[in-house]
Amino acid sequence: MAKNHDLTRVRNVGIMAHIDAGKTTVTERILYFSGKTHKMGEVHEGEATMDWMAQERERGITITSAATTVAWRDHAITIIDTPGHVDFTVEVERSLRVLDGAIALFCGVGGVEPQSETVWRQADKYEVPVIAFVNKMDRAGADFFGVIGLIESQLGANPVPVVIPMVDENDGLLGVIDLIDNVAHYYDDEGTRHDEPVPAARQAERDSWFKHLIEKASEVDDHLMERFVADEPISRDELIAGLRRATLARTIVPVLCGAAFRNKGVRRLLDAVVDFLPSPMDLPPVIGTCPESREAMERLPKPDGRLAALAFKIVADQHTGKTTYVRVYSGTLRSGSQVLNSTQDRRQRIGRLMKMHANRPEIVDEITAGDIGVAVGLSETNTGDTLCDPAHPILLEAIEFPAPVLSISIQPASRQDRDKLGTALHRLANEDPTFVVSTGEARGETVISGMGELHLEIIVDRLRREFGVGAVVGTPEVAYRETITLPADIVHRYVKQTGGRGEYAHVVMRIEPAGAGVGFEFVNEITGGRIPREYIPSIEKGIIGAMAGGIYAGYPVVDVRVVLTDGSFHEVDSSDRAFQICASQAFKAAFAKANPELLEPVMSVQVVAPEEHAGPVHGDLCARRGRITGMHVKGAMNEVEALVPLGTMFGYATQLRSLTSGRASFTMQFERYEAVPYSIAEEIVARRRERPAGHRG
Ligand code: GDP
Repeated sequence: MAKNHDLTRVRNVGIMAHIDAGKTTVTERILYFSGKTHKMGEVHEGEATMDWMAQERERGITITSAATTVAWRDHAITIIDTPGHVDFTVEVERSLRVLDGAIALFCGVGGVEPQSETVWRQADKYEVPVIAFVNKMDRAGADFFGVIGLIESQLGANPVPVVIPMVDENDGLLGVIDLIDNVAHYYDDEGTRHDEPVPAARQAERDSWFKHLIEKASEVDDHLMERFVADEPISRDELIAGLRRATLARTIVPVLCGAAFRNKGVRRLLDAVVDFLPSPMDLPPVIGTCPESREAMERLPKPDGRLAALAFKIVADQHTGKTTYVRVYSGTLRSGSQVLNSTQDRRQRIGRLMKMHANRPEIVDEITAGDIGVAVGLSETNTGDTLCDPAHPILLEAIEFPAPVLSISIQPASRQDRDKLGTALHRLANEDPTFVVSTGEARGETVISGMGELHLEIIVDRLRREFGVGAVVGTPEVAYRETITLPADIVHRYVKQTGGRGEYAHVVMRIEPAGAGVGFEFVNEITGGRIPREYIPSIEKGIIGAMAGGIYAGYPVVDVRVVLTDGSFHEVDSSDRAFQICASQAFKAAFAKANPELLEPVMSVQVVAPEEHAGPVHGDLCARRGRITGMHVKGAMNEVEALVPLGTMFGYATQLRSLTSGRASFTMQFERYEAVPYSIAEEIVARRRERPAGHRG
């Protein structure tokens, strides 16, 4: 483990991959070879150590971004688990915020798949230095140099091999030739490695690739360039240092290869993590703002600096309770200390702290700058919150989460489940900012919303397994929203005379479009106590209630500003309740006058299909109200990019399969909300009204 908090010996890395490229297997082997796990879990047997939750094992996919620390060559490497499924790109983005470098994993046979591309673009966005590992080199048809070509042509990167595979026609993958050390690593199937001189028959090949490596590195590194031009020898250490600088500058991607499943090439990969990927010291200082002045400020990665940490992941753990994954950028987070949650402006006491080692936690006294760990029982802290020194507050940039796009109604399976369901949903929503629980006001049922079908399916699964709650769900529905396109004014009185004490409230307000992403803005222009101050929150509450339930078609209202300009009250008859009802009714009436429209999630879709199928794929996307935004030729394949409303994409996987005889693949991510064309909106509204309450789906 890192000694004396030597930050240069810390690596925080994520593994980014297309689903099925072997991320779970690689992670497993890393844990095994670094000596932290003593048994190799095979994914197909459902034993993977990093797969925390039972249903992940069954599905063979990894969803949580658990952070696991291992030791290698006197360095502490923390592996931040990133999910492979595109429904969880938000998890990928979230982990990219806190990791310093990444291993991009490719399948030696599958190459660069659309999803690898999506993830690569995300790494670009966060400027994460990357090394690549071409896995499954034991499989027939694996093509190391082919994959390198694709990394160059499709991802626009500058890949350069630092090892090359040794494949034997009969015996498969024997090992790799290390270009830098000019040595051959042979492995048997148990992963035992022995090193030998490069076979004579392959020496020329090694020399030529080594020359290529020096040339490529010199092109992007001035120091090496000087040596190269002067024809001076470049030492091993100089070459590694040069490659490291170039990797950090993102001008080069060192590429390794192996077969994780056969225990081949993983230790060389760990060496490359240490050699080429950044330590927290290599990074620019983290940027934040002063919560009061809004001025930009920086924090350096120093353990004795002022505390700045980001809570990036919350997991509701059955045994330990709420666990919060924290990345400390500066200073030291100490158990028992008081910190400021500057996002919520409240103080928090730090309880127990832990470091995670492959499902086995280690209790620690502190987590220092550059490190990632877990705080237990931080009840008030949410995902994306900043924790900092109360004497020196800073607000780190919050993590952006996309809006949930798909909803499903959910009901308890039995009477016993009824009470538990609410609590369990609340805990899950707490953990996952892209998962929202709401009450469909018009029908009174509980509605859960998330990023895609698989996302919601997994939530329902977790309810059953982790919380022991049975639930029945409807069919998934697009999470439409409502908004207005014109301003409108309204004067509204709510008066009831029912014998005894009556009810009285009166409001005058204006509603107007507030721009995409604003949500809701409330402006109070009442002066002189024409409505007493205590009723203003009642009015706001009434409006928020009306917005949540929807007016046009029962979908939540977004992006409106309400300006309360006037009104009156009655000494005896006015009440919180009266003002809530009055404001709700007023808002609904104003909304109807403000030319409402329906908004729908529009997805960015990429389809890769053989050229002969590109036409039908294109036509089909257009028939789904898709707008084609790009067409590219990629070898024998064509890629079609389009923006398509989510509502037309149900069952797309099946349709695409039959259109292309199963030879195409696609990815889909949320892009933005857009107005639904009027005639289609009317159809959606009519359909929704037809269905009786409680029988959705
Ligand atoms: P993930 O979806 O990226 O986490 O991939 P997994 O680690 O679950 O691997 C997907 C499948 O590929 C599993 O059946 C693995 O056993 C298999 N696999 C992983 N690595 C290798 C490898 O190096 N060679 C071969 N032949 N199969 C592999």
